Amino acid sequence: MVDAQSIRLSVDLTDAPRNIFHSQLAIPVKPGPLTLVYPQWIPGNHRPSGPIANVTGIRMEAGGQTLVWQRDPIDMYAFHVDVPAGTNELRVSLDTITNDGSAGASGPAATTNVLDLNWNQVVLYPQNTSSDEVQVQTAVKLPRGWKYGTALPASKRSTNEIVTFAPVSLTMLVDSPLIAGNYYRRIELTKPGEAPAHVIDIVSESDPALAMTTADQAAYAKLVAETSALFGARHYLEYHFLLTLSDEAGHHGVEHHQSSDNSVGERTLIDPDLHLIEAGLLPHEFTHSWNGKYRRPAGLATRNYQEPMRGDLLWVYEGLTEYLGNVLTARSGLWTPDQYREALADTAAMLDHRPGRTWRPLADTARSVQILRLRGPEWQSWRRSLDYYPEGELIWLEVDAIIRQQTQGQKSLNDFCRLFHGGESGAPKVVPYTFDDVVHTLNQVAPYDWAALLRERANSTAAHAPLGGIERGGWRVVYNDQPNVFIHTAEKIRKSVNAAYSLGFVVKEDGEFSDVIYGSPAYAAGIGPGMKLVAINGRAWSKDVLQDALRASTDSKRPIDLLIENAKFFKTYSIDYHDGIRNPHLERSGGSDVLGGILAPLTK
Ligand SMILES: [Zn+2]
Repeated sequence: MVDAQSIRLSVDLTDAPRNIFHSQLAIPVKPGPLTLVYPQWIPGNHRPSGPIANVTGIRMEAGGQTLVWQRDPIDMYAFHVDVPAGTNELRVSLDTITNDGSAGASGPAATTNVLDLNWNQVVLYPQNTSSDEVQVQTAVKLPRGWKYGTALPASKRSTNEIVTFAPVSLTMLVDSPLIAGNYYRRIELTKPGEAPAHVIDIVSESDPALAMTTADQAAYAKLVAETSALFGARHYLEYHFLLTLSDEAGHHGVEHHQSSDNSVGERTLIDPDLHLIEAGLLPHEFTHSWNGKYRRPAGLATRNYQEPMRGDLLWVYEGLTEYLGNVLTARSGLWTPDQYREALADTAAMLDHRPGRTWRPLADTARSVQILRLRGPEWQSWRRSLDYYPEGELIWLEVDAIIRQQTQGQKSLNDFCRLFHGGESGAPKVVPYTFDDVVHTLNQVAPYDWAALLRERANSTAAHAPLGGIERGGWRVVYNDQPNVFIHTAEKIRKSVNAAYSLGFVVKEDGEFSDVIYGSPAYAAGIGPGMKLVAINGRAWSKDVLQDALRASTDSKRPIDLLIENAKFFKTYSIDYHDGIRNPHLERSGGSDVLGGILAPLTK
């Protein structure tokens, strides 16, 4: 239906501050019936998240004549039109609304000062074509004075804010988002002349927020060096860390071959608390260039954006990335080993207090990505969440520790990464894999019954989290009254109090329970998420009052009484609890410190 010519796409972004993008498409066509589709299954989201409800103002014309189009009655993403005789080009205009967070982020794509353009949101393409075979020539018009970052190659910019890009495949276009902003900074992580180049493009709501420290710049340069040592090859021609600093724009991290699209709070580079919590984001998304984009589960390596995806191996795609990303965060110096262990203790405790695991195996959380993503915290311990991230991290730590033990420290997961993710450096490509391919490569590194271990971990309905990697690593999870640095920092940032491992709830500053752990003492007393805490033992509640009551519980035989409001009705719930404040940490359990070895940098 479409010939070898390129689709021409121009996107007017000058209305970005009010969250509407205007697109014009010129699509080469032949006369006769034609179906155009809007991308539905979005890579990195792993689900049918293309924001079709936000596509407005659709007009199609050919030869100066307006054409009547019809949406498919079943497939909301498909548009049928009859191309008149003598026509070889269809012109389509459409607008995309971008402020409802439906792009997979938690908020709008643009603000007064920043924008994040994902091309899948502004394009139509002929049905049943392969996204590799559709060529697109793109131009954008930016708000006056804004600067941009993208991995899209060979651009030229004219003075009137219009940037034109070289023709690329639709695959490459959708894989190369563009950020732009009023305040912009470019940081080079690679020395001049060295290839491939690595760049951090930062846009922000304010100039002071751009102040990345020289220590951080050195750590990100080290991150680049560490990935070279870990994987042994790079599958991109240049790499852009796209970083948006905004409290108003959607918060997210999305992986691509040659870039990652990261959006965090405005003060993340200059506020130590935000810095600590977000330190793992760029290493995680960067790791995806190898694990997720280059090597991709066969069920996620689809021909175009209409073909459904299968999430079954996301505990490899995301779980291994979570593991490697956090290890790289420590190896590059963005976290100290101590901070890494506190983060790991937090993760282990969360998963070990998640009774949903008794009905929903990890594999089902991966397969259910379509319905689990962006759910709220209510009943999360029972529903489970995207647990293939954190639980995948524990599983891959266990795999790494087993390899190190089986080979007396001669081999490690680093060797797996070289075999699985290395190969030849060059332009982006996708090499799909299956469960058997993962097992086969692990056996090349160290013979073991990997298939049985990984099947058991993926399909288990055991009540407790797989903590074997921590134990084999020479550590164990303990609970005491000392604050866990990640839980403590998250409490400050989210304005909440985490008593998940004592009474069994997280409560917001305004008293609302964001979650109550299923099966916990609070749950046993009848409390649920959405209820509101008013008073503890007869006194108006606060973090201090709660902590005092927890401390006193160890020497008291009396229950802790919580006065709670539930949809305008008040009731006192008595919790029979006597174990004090409980925060998770890792403690050495003897043997050699395998975990310490894992966190040691591979480069000098
Ligand atoms: Zn990820």
